[in-house]
Amino acid sequence: MNEITPVSDAATNAAPVKAAPALPDAQTVTAVKHWTDKLFSFRVSRPASLRFRSGEFVMIGLMGEVNEKTGKQKPLLRAYSIASPSWDEEMEFYSIKVEDGPLTSRLQHIKVGDEIILRPKPVGTLVHDALIPGKRIWFFATGTGFAPFASLLREPQTL
Ligand SMILES: Cc1cc2nc3c(=O)[nH]c(=O)nc-3n(C[C@H](O)[C@H](O)[C@H](O)COP(=O)(O)OP(=O)(O)OC[C@H]3O[C@@H](n4cnc5c(N)ncnc54)[C@H](O)[C@@H]3O)c2cc1C
Repeated sequence: MNEITPVSDAATNAAPVKAAPALPDAQTVTAVKHWTDKLFSFRVSRPASLRFRSGEFVMIGLMGEVNEKTGKQKPLLRAYSIASPSWDEEMEFYSIKVEDGPLTSRLQHIKVGDEIILRPKPVGTLVHDALIPGKRIWFFATGTGFAPFASLLREPQTL
């Protein structure tokens, strides 16, 4: 004899499992490399429609903490120079690790497959239009200051 087991009330009345809210302007982390205790770099997917000029920067970040009064979360964004050139299929960034920095205290723990926010509005003036007709580019940069030059150096126009 087959016995029919009633489905418990708890199972039928259980609230549907809520998926984590999707990040606005989400891009997926594809690589992370830690260079020192203060510097790391990472690559993320590139929005198909995002065009930029080598040397520009974008706003990137993560969702901020939940506001206790409103229960809402706002994106926590910071300016980041794009270190990859305009022809690259992905986007690369160099980041400082600030111990108590609102963003980088968390960003430094990202792993491949995680998502970050990348606002697709690149801006900046360290671009070829502003540098040409200069014959040589001299740059002095330390740490993450190298990022926009890493982008420019890999642009065929720079050679
Ligand atoms: C145009 C522009 C481009 C930038 N590009 C980059 C980039 O490519 N990579 C990057 O890591 N940061 C870059 N920054 C700085 C970045 O926006 C953030 O300040 C940084 O990510 C730290 O964020 P945070 O919220 O952890 O700390 P914040 O509260 O923003 O900063 C805390 C303190 O950390 C120090 N600090 C912040 N950023 C740096 C840095 N890059 N190097 C050394 N000390 C720093 C400063 O003393 C600052 O007051 C850029 C800023 C601007 C305006």
